[in-house]
Amino acid sequence: MLNILFPKICYGCKSLLLAGEKTICSKCIHSLPIAGFHKTGNEILKNQFYGRFLVKNATAIIYFQKRGLTQQLLHNLKYRGKEEISYFFGKWLGTELAENTAFNNVDIVIPVPLHKQKLRKRGYNQVAGFGKEIAAALNIPYRDDVLVKISASHSQVFKNRILRYDKQEVFAVQNLDVIKNKHILLVDDIITTGATLERCATQLLKGKNVSISIATIAIA
Ligand SMILES: [Zn+2]
Repeated sequence: MLNILFPKICYGCKSLLLAGEKTICSKCIHSLPIAGFHKTGNEILKNQFYGRFLVKNATAIIYFQKRGLTQQLLHNLKYRGKEEISYFFGKWLGTELAENTAFNNVDIVIPVPLHKQKLRKRGYNQVAGFGKEIAAALNIPYRDDVLVKISASHSQVFKNRILRYDKQEVFAVQNLDVIKNKHILLVDDIITTGATLERCATQLLKGKNVSISIATIAIA
């Protein structure tokens, strides 16, 4: 009945979802440009961070393509309230990582945070569902209270907690005990230059005996 009143549509192509389909239709799923570095080897992706910080392993599910299906999906996720898309990709990758020896030894999932003002405005962190589903599949904790994003204008207040100052993006860490001796899976929606992930990793590496792997939905 609910399906008749509120038919579920694919967030990729807007066609009606069939029974058994959820969030994205099979046709769209099959036309996604798969990256899947956790299956094919992640040296290329790891090399992108060479000299910036040490990445244990890194992967992304799909390649981001401008004006394509992937752009539609990420746009829906980020700007049109379609948080489900994040959970969809998290479930997908979580299932695959649980059987992947390079990734199934991570201890904790930590998302790239939004500034709390932006979080209030959007209502959700677009990478939260992705991270939570991966954590659930690997049976490990998801923690969004370790890494925080603070605006440059507020940075003076947190001066003694900041490792690195940047006018555009400033991150800080708290509850460092949580990540002590941990292999962290840092998650984000998309890798473009890798600068955001680098800033986050720099903060997380303040933790004692911490190592970092990366998983994102897309890579540009
Ligand atoms: Zn579709």
